[in-house]
Amino acid sequence: MVKATNIVKAIHNSDLGRVLKKLGLYERLVRGELRYAICGYPSTLENLSGLYEENGEVKIVCNRIECLVGATERVFLA
Ligand SMILES: [Zn+2]
Repeated sequence: MVKATNIVKAIHNSDLGRVLKKLGLYERLVRGELRYAICGYPSTLENLSGLYEENGEVKIVCNRIECLVGATERVFLA
């Protein structure tokens, strides 16, 4: 349940860019080098909606509704 709280926080964080910079992922995200965890599409800053952690890895989630739902389910099941 702690993890579930984290994703809600991440999705509602309006300052994702700052978090990504802190994690060292920002440049790679902007260049499209990262892939969204659920759909597998290349990352862009425009459709990023949130982050979550799975197995110690930071995963990014886009703003497609199925990806948001998928991420939430994964976190809840983890
Ligand atoms: Zn997606």
